[in-house]
Amino acid sequence: MLLPPHCASCGAPGELLCSPCRALMERADGKRCRHCWLTSESQVCRDCLSRPLPLRELRSGFVYDGPARAAVLALKHRGVKGLARVLVELGGDIQPATDVDVVVPIPIPLLRKRRRVGNQAEHLARIVAERTGLPMEPNALRRRGWWGPRQAQASSRANRRQIVLNAFAADGVRVRDRGVLLVDDVSTTTATLSEAARTLLGAGARVVDAWTAARAD
Ligand SMILES: [Zn+2]
Ligand SMILES: [Zn+2]
Repeated sequence: MLLPPHCASCGAPGELLCSPCRALMERADGKRCRHCWLTSESQVCRDCLSRPLPLRELRSGFVYDGPARAAVLALKHRGVKGLARVLVELGGDIQPATDVDVVVPIPIPLLRKRRRVGNQAEHLARIVAERTGLPMEPNALRRRGWWGPRQAQASSRANRRQIVLNAFAADGVRVRDRGVLLVDDVSTTTATLSEAARTLLGAGARVVDAWTAARAD
């Protein structure tokens, strides 16, 4: 049975995200570091100055809070695909740099693949590709391990580093000499995006930028 849509944030019937909740979503804009997109008075924050990211630039639609957070979680855990379009379209114009020529979603950990709600990053990347006119390469990156960052959090520090490090493998044929726009649902730390970028650059990508629907400050 197909249930009528209801708001991912407040539960009101009618839409995947109702108008009052949409109005409460906070754009991730203002003064931010151009590399990691955290609030910063200077164009490049102290962290990125002292430890440059393999990622050239990160941009995000919303602050990861309130209805934006609820929408991201419903897309991720319940597979409400329609929310990918809502998040991308409300999140403002995505303007990839002129040297970017392919959209690549962050793959989900293998364990989550079994849950059949799909990959939220891929749902978002498909809409991003559609709106920017860039092709999407869903198989440019793959996960090497079974675990995701949440399982990794529970394990020891050394173990965790090991899991994020080498978490991905890149298909050189799909990325060599290309500019990549990585897409994910939310960036909390930049650890996952950075590791994905490092892997892509290692496989011959020219440059890696990223876009996420939400940024946790
Ligand atoms: Zn609502
Ligand atoms: Zn920064």
